[in-house]
Amino acid sequence: MKCLVTGAAGFLGSHLCERLLNEGREVVGVDNLYTGSERNLRGFSGNARFTFMKADVCDLKSEDLGAFDEIYNLACPASPVHYQARPLFTSLTSVKGILLCLELAKRDGSRLLHASTSEIYGDPLVHPQEELYWGNVNTIGIRSCYDEGKRMAETFVADYVRLYDVDARMVRIFNTYGPRMHPQDGRVVSNFIMQALKGEDITIYGDGSQTRSFQYCDDLIEAFVRYMAAPKARMREFFGKPGRPAVPVLNTGNPGEFTIEELAKMTLELLPESKSRLAYRPLPGDDPKKRKPDISLAKELLGWEPKVPLAEGLAKTIEYFRVAAFSHP
Ligand code: NAD
Ligand code: UDP
Repeated sequence: MKCLVTGAAGFLGSHLCERLLNEGREVVGVDNLYTGSERNLRGFSGNARFTFMKADVCDLKSEDLGAFDEIYNLACPASPVHYQARPLFTSLTSVKGILLCLELAKRDGSRLLHASTSEIYGDPLVHPQEELYWGNVNTIGIRSCYDEGKRMAETFVADYVRLYDVDARMVRIFNTYGPRMHPQDGRVVSNFIMQALKGEDITIYGDGSQTRSFQYCDDLIEAFVRYMAAPKARMREFFGKPGRPAVPVLNTGNPGEFTIEELAKMTLELLPESKSRLAYRPLPGDDPKKRKPDISLAKELLGWEPKVPLAEGLAKTIEYFRVAAFSHP
């Protein structure tokens, strides 16, 4: 079975490629290396079933690519620091990237998984967030390039499902962390671990009372694999029923909810030798106040729920950063 993974050299893309290769698939990974790194591919770049293609999804046309049984669309900077640094590129990547994948899936009858995000809920007024919630998103804020790009991508997927019966599935991923996050990624888990390892201030934005739900990467990849293994007929039977989304879309995340201050303290407890102290910095614009997934649908459809508690996942991530952080280019 042949798979295409866009965003292959990123944090999640590289874990996905590795899992697909371990299951005997042939994998073509596409990445422009904006936030990803070929270093993430080292463990399997020598595998004869893996091909890496350095390319931007905004420049590729469906004619440039052959046929795939499965397509996984992960290309998009995910850290606020990096998506806000290139906002036009971020929106365009979401839109052009999904159109490329949808055209391929339509042409060749491929099954498609699209990486959407909890950010489509914006600063949510419903808590926890379930898939039927439409969200609370600012169209003109500094996060909008990411949030609205991802929302537009969901709309394209839904319309290709309705118009062309494309076998597409979306996952709304809640904050996911783990080994192979870039040390300068800028997201909270990697920032806190790097700061604690270097003895620098732990930068809490705002008063640290905002919450997030943190999912370990292996749990997410397991959900991807189960979702893509389900037959198309099962998608038709499950979605579109009263009380469920009209097209295949699932939340994936760990429902454990922590304040950012709790995360900072937990990181320091796992690194008792650290000399770092908590330091409070201004809160960036439009920062969501709380976030927690309702994962009832994923449990029912896939028999899936996350297994790795935050303290265990953080400990594994710290072990990775101890080595990687100081040898990273
Ligand atoms: P990441 O930044 O590590 O990976 C994204 C990858 O996409 C990088 O390798 C980057 O170089 C590549 N990329 C970006 N724009 C591209 C383009 N135009 N053409 C080709 N490649 C491009 O981030 P990640 O955490 O691995 O996220 C992967 C996907 O999952 C993203 O779509 C992201 O929006 C989504 N997601 C992640 C999280 C999370 O918490 N990790 C949460 C919600 C959604
Ligand atoms: N954050 C923080 N310190 C940092 C980085 C992030 O306090 O060094 C906060 C950020 O303001 C947000 C939360 O941690 O409230 C999660 O931020 P991240 O960038 O990881 O992802 P988001 O969920 O905001 O997209």
